[in-house]
Amino acid sequence: MPLLADVAVPVPLSQAFTYEVPAALAAEVRPGARVLCEFHRRKLLGVVLSVSERSTAIDPSRIKPLAALVDARPALPAELLSFLQELAAYYFAPIGEVLRLALPAIEREQVRALKAQGELDGVLDLGRAKQVGGRKVAFARATDAIEEPGTLRGQAAALLALLRANGEQPVARLEERFGNARSALKKLAERGLVALDEREPPRDPFFRLAEARDVPPELNAAQAEAAARLEAALAAAAGEGEPRAGAPHEPRPAGPSAFLLFGVTGSGKTEVYLRAIKSCLERGRGALVMVPEIALTPQLVARFRARFGDELAVLHSGLSDADRHAMWSSLHGGKVRVAIGARSALFAPVPDLGLILVDEEHDGSFKQEEGVRYHARDMALLRAHRAGAVCVLGSATPSIESVALVRRGKLTELRLPDRAHREASLPEVTLVDLRRFGAGPSGDPLISLPLHRALEKTLAAKEQAILFLNRRGFAPSVVCGSCGTLTTCDACSVALTYHRGRRRDAPAGAIAAGAGAPPPAGAAATPPPAAGAPGAGSLEERPQGGRLRCHYCDYAGPLPERCAACGSRTLLLEGLGTERLEATIAASFPEARVARLDRDVAGKDRSQAILARMREGKIDILVGTQMVTKGHDLPNVTLVGVVNADAALGLPDFRAAERGFQLLVQVAGRAGRRDRPGRVLIQTRNPEHPAIAFAAAHDVPGFLDREIRDREEVGYPPATRLALLRIDAVDEGVGRGAAAKLAAHARTCPEGLARRVEVLGPSAAPIARLRGRYRFRVLLRARERGPLRGTLAALAGLLRDGLDRNARVIIDVDPVAML
Ligand code: ADP
Ligand code: ZN
Ligand code: ZN
Repeated sequence: MPLLADVAVPVPLSQAFTYEVPAALAAEVRPGARVLCEFHRRKLLGVVLSVSERSTAIDPSRIKPLAALVDARPALPAELLSFLQELAAYYFAPIGEVLRLALPAIEREQVRALKAQGELDGVLDLGRAKQVGGRKVAFARATDAIEEPGTLRGQAAALLALLRANGEQPVARLEERFGNARSALKKLAERGLVALDEREPPRDPFFRLAEARDVPPELNAAQAEAAARLEAALAAAAGEGEPRAGAPHEPRPAGPSAFLLFGVTGSGKTEVYLRAIKSCLERGRGALVMVPEIALTPQLVARFRARFGDELAVLHSGLSDADRHAMWSSLHGGKVRVAIGARSALFAPVPDLGLILVDEEHDGSFKQEEGVRYHARDMALLRAHRAGAVCVLGSATPSIESVALVRRGKLTELRLPDRAHREASLPEVTLVDLRRFGAGPSGDPLISLPLHRALEKTLAAKEQAILFLNRRGFAPSVVCGSCGTLTTCDACSVALTYHRGRRRDAPAGAIAAGAGAPPPAGAAATPPPAAGAPGAGSLEERPQGGRLRCHYCDYAGPLPERCAACGSRTLLLEGLGTERLEATIAASFPEARVARLDRDVAGKDRSQAILARMREGKIDILVGTQMVTKGHDLPNVTLVGVVNADAALGLPDFRAAERGFQLLVQVAGRAGRRDRPGRVLIQTRNPEHPAIAFAAAHDVPGFLDREIRDREEVGYPPATRLALLRIDAVDEGVGRGAAAKLAAHARTCPEGLARRVEVLGPSAAPIARLRGRYRFRVLLRARERGPLRGTLAALAGLLRDGLDRNARVIIDVDPVAML
C-alpha cells in the first residue's frame, strides 16, 4: 500500500488533498510539516495533516508525489495542529486559511535548501513569502552549579551575581556594563557556572529596558484561595499523584480545569496570574497569556518580565517579521515557555501547554472580525481542554457567556471581592442627569457644572482626571442647517465625522489625525450616531480646515461647501468627539496639562508614551475613548468623568447594554486605586437604564443576573446559539438575491423544516452599505448547537457549489459585531 499524506493547501476550500510520500521522504514527512506540492500545475506550500499507509479509491496514477519537504521538524506541533483542525471545523473555515494563522515565516536557510534541490522553480507563494533568519546573538545565563567559595573575584563574581539575580542576559548588554565581560564569561562557562548560547535576538521595544526583578507581594486571603485552587488544578492536570499516561498533548483526566477569575478592578488578578504561571513552569509546562491590546498594556508586560525575566515571548502586531519569528522559534524550540500577546497569541507554539490565561476576557477585541472569524476566548477554552491545560478567564466585568458557563458548571468561579491595596476602595459614583443640569462655565452642555467643579477640585489637589467619551473626532456629525440632511459617506451608510486635525496651539500629546489609519480589525469601532442621540451644541460658524472622515472605510475628504441635498451653505457641526472635548477642556482649564488618547493619536509607540507621561504625572487631564478604560493602573487618578454614557447604549445590538455596562465599570475602575479615594461622575440622560444604574452601584453580579434573564426572554445568547450569514455585493440586487437563496435553503434543510433552527431574514444589515458594498444578513438561531451546525453544513455545501460569483458570503459562528 502506498504511503499517503493528507495535505492542506492555502486555498479557500475546506478539504485536504491526498499526495503520495516519495520513499526518500518517508522517514521525514510528519504531520505539521510544510511541504511543496503540485496543485493545478502550480507548486504550493502545504501543511501535512496526516500520514498513513493505506489504500485509496482515487486512481493511483492521479495521485501526485510530494515535491519537497520544507520543515525538517514539523512547524506545527501535534497539539497545535489538531487544535487548528478543530477550530476550522467549528467555524466552517477553510483549513488552509486557519493553518495560515499559526504558521511561522519561512527561514532563509530553508529557501536556500529548496533552491539547491531545484524545487523552487515556478513556486508562486514561497517566492513572495516572508523570509527571516540568519542573525544570531549570544545569551548568557547562570547554571545551577555552585562555585567553590572564594574562587571567584572581580568581574566574574559580579557577572555571576547579576545573572543569578536577573536571569538570562544578552552578552552585548553585559559588555555595556563590564569591560571584560567576554573573557569573564568564558572563564565562568569553562567552570560550568554559566551557559552561553546563540540565538535570534529579540529586538522588541518591550525588551529595550532591563526590568529589575520584583519581590512577590504576600497574597491577601482571596488571592491566596484563588492561587491555591489554580495550583491544585495545575497539579491535577499534570497528572501528579498518578502515573502520567499518554502523549503530553492528550487530555488528562482532571478535576475542574477551567476557571472564571472574577475580581473587581484593582483586586490583584495579575498577581494571581503570576502565581499560576509559576506553578505551571515548576511542573515543566508552558503558559500562554492573552490580553486585549498589548500596546496598551506595557505595564502588564513589565510585571511579567519583572517576575520571569526575559524568558518570555511577547507577541504583538508591532513586531518585525524577524522578531516575530525569533519569538516563535524560541517557543517552538522550547527555550522560552511563556508567551504573552493579543488575540493571535492563541496560536503560539507554547511547548507542553499547561496553562492559558485570558485577561479581560469580556473584551470585544478577542473576536477576529475578518478572515477566519474566531473568538480567541472561546478557542482558548477549547485549546486548553484538548491540551489538558488549565484555562483561566479573568475580568472585573465577566462576559455574559462566561457567567452562563459558570452556571452550567463548565467554569469554576473564583472571586476577588476587594481591591488589593488595603487603603483603596471602590470609587464613589455620582450620576449627573443631563436633563436637569445644563452647561457649566465652559458653555458646553456636555461639561456639566458638577463635572466642571469636580475637575477644578482634582486640579487643585494636584491629582489626575480621566474623561471618557466613546466617540473620536471633533464633531460626530455634519448636519445641514436648512434641510437637516446628515452628511454621510458615499461608500458606507454611516455619518462622516469631522476631524479638525493639527492645531498650532495643540497641547503636547495631541498630534494631528493626518490621513488616518482605519480602525484595526476587531477594534471596537466608534458607533454611528444613533438617531436622537443627545447632541452637544452645534458650532454656528463654518470651521476652517479639517477633514471629514469615515470611521468604517478609509475615506477622508474636505468639508463640502454646500449641502448635497439642498445646496444650502449652512452646514453645522453637531455632537461631541474626543478631539473637541480636548479642545474645550484645554480652553476651560488653561492651567491644566491636557492630552488625548484615541486611535487618532495612538501610533505604535504613542499610546505607550502618553500613558507613561500620565503615570509620571505630566498630564493632569487625559481625554480619550475606550483606550483609557483598559486596565491601566494609574495611582494618582482620583476623578473619572464619563461624558456621555448614553452613546453606546442605543445601538441595534443585543449586547449593547452589556458592552455599555462593561465600559462604565472598567473606566470607573481607573479611579482611586491607591490611598486617595476616587470619584466617578457619569453624565447621562437615562439614569434609570440598568447598565448605568448597576454600574453606579458597582453591582456587577446584579447586572449579570438581570442581563441573563433578559437574554433568556428575548432568546439571545447565551440562552440560544447564533450564526450570522453575512452577504455583501457591489450590486444591491445580487446581494439581496443571494441572501434570499441562503435563507430559503436554511428553511428547507431538515433542521429548518423541523423548526429546530430559526431563520431570521434575509434583511439589510444595520449598516446597509459599507465600502461600496450592499450588506445583507440571515441570522440563524437555535437552542442547541447540533441543529445549528447541521444547517450550517447544508449552507456550506450550497456555498461550495457556488452561489453567485458576485456575492460574498461569510459564515460568522457566534457573531459578536451585529452591525
Ligand atoms: P487587577 O488586574 O485585578 O485590576 P492588579 O493586579 O493591577 O489588579 O493589582 C492592583 C494593584 O494592587 C497593583 O498595583 C498591584 O501591584 C497591587 N497588588 C496586587 N496584589 C497585591 C497584594 N497581595 N498586596 C499588595 N498589593 C497588591
Ligand atoms: Zn440641506
Ligand atoms: Zn465609509
